[in-house]
Amino acid sequence: DDLAHVERRITVVGAGLAGALFATLLARRGWQVDVHEKRGDPRLKGYEGGRSINLALAERGRHALRLAGADPAVMSHAVMMRGRMVHFADGHAALQRYGKDDSEVIWSVHRGELNISLLDIAERAGVNVHFHRTLQGVDFEGRRARFVDERNGELHELEFETLVGADGAGSSLRAAMAAEIELGERSEFLDHSYKELEIPPDADGGFRMEPNALHIWPRGRSMCIALPNDERTFTVTLFLPNHDVADVAGGPPRGPSFASVADGAAARELFAREFPDALPLVPALEHDFEANPTGVLGTLYLDTWQLDDRAVLLGDAAHAMVPFHGQGMNCAFEDCVALAEHLDGTADRAAAFAAFQAERLPNARAIQAMALENYLEMRDRVDDDDYLLQRELEQALALRHPDRFMPRYSMVSFHRFPYAMAYERGRVQRELLVELTRGHDTLDTLDWDVADALVLARLAPLPAHD
Ligand code: FAD
Repeated sequence: DDLAHVERRITVVGAGLAGALFATLLARRGWQVDVHEKRGDPRLKGYEGGRSINLALAERGRHALRLAGADPAVMSHAVMMRGRMVHFADGHAALQRYGKDDSEVIWSVHRGELNISLLDIAERAGVNVHFHRTLQGVDFEGRRARFVDERNGELHELEFETLVGADGAGSSLRAAMAAEIELGERSEFLDHSYKELEIPPDADGGFRMEPNALHIWPRGRSMCIALPNDERTFTVTLFLPNHDVADVAGGPPRGPSFASVADGAAARELFAREFPDALPLVPALEHDFEANPTGVLGTLYLDTWQLDDRAVLLGDAAHAMVPFHGQGMNCAFEDCVALAEHLDGTADRAAAFAAFQAERLPNARAIQAMALENYLEMRDRVDDDDYLLQRELEQALALRHPDRFMPRYSMVSFHRFPYAMAYERGRVQRELLVELTRGHDTLDTLDWDVADALVLARLAPLPAHD
């Protein structure tokens, strides 16, 4: 074909989740790909990443893994999560299924194992991965990039045609691009942060709770979640406000918060009060609370992801988001597929990057917004009566109108509809649910003719999908 004679070389910064997958997709299309990664090779010394030990993998992420030939390796370590196991304040727990059956589930995967699988597959596809290379500076004029080996300060300078920034939320490439052009960068941090804790296996080496669920303890101001790992542990994430806050303007500030829950003993008191059923499951609570770092949560918005044909950003480097929809990696993987397709389709890289950004930026904005909304839903709503009634109606309408009404969570997690479409249809559906359940305590009193008519009037049929 026309492009076959063009030499296709590219330099990727970051061999995290997106960098390793993107490199594989291009290498499989015959590109020569070099990846430069700040950390050491996790296959030699163990994974140094540390934080957010497991991640929820959904259909869009799996689709990208399939295209890279990585799905079987990743799925061999994955644990199925059928729904949210909500642990109520009175001590009882109930499973809220995510989908209609076990064909509609999400998967818990270990970040370190996933990264290792992706690196293996990248190298097998012919990608050159260079470890201990931290991007330090870029001379865009001369198309030269400078990397440093942080162990000994050794510098490596190299020429590039194009740099792809897969170097995460704190992207060095983004900082270098921002020195050349205005990227329209802004970050919004939540006034909540997180801490990771561990539930080890029980005495017989088994799981201490139901393994096939994402556990949630919603308590309004505070929240815990727990995801299963295939070694029969759970990673617990505790979310708390940064500071004590007043219930009403001018009122006395109250906890819990990371400011007032300052040490392991205070964390134990918090668990005894708010999450008593979880307390006996976290034997090293004091240690984990004091030894693990407190992570901040924020959303990164950029107006521009590209510097003509010389650089482009993807994944967290372009659009980090809060983790409450479990979609940051899934979105980053979708970026990889889109960018590989745009790049492979033309010799004009600036045009490919512009087309990539035009396709992906509105979708990134939509999932960023949905992730923020999901935070409030998980914290405050999953144990509410009117929320539960709306969910019941949502499921009923999805059964009555499978071609038109699909829960937003399903559009995002079990299908690959553009995020922006899921966001917009989700907004229309939410209004419908609120309107139809207003004044009702049960669905028995609902007028189904009115409900059906509203669905037909307001929701166009869904596009064809798999
Ligand atoms: P990263 O995974 O951060 O990779 C960046 C890589 O670049 C790293 O390897 C890093 O070492 C390297 N690097 C950094 N700087 C340089 C440099 N200067 N030079 C060279 N290399 C560099 N997403 C989900 O889909 N599901 C979830 O359940 C989920 N849960 C989450 C929970 C928490 C608490 C958090 C914080 C995030 C969660 N996410 C989740 C989001 C997900 O972690 C990110 O979206 C994903 O890791 C983005 O991949 P990335 O490759 O863009 O960045």
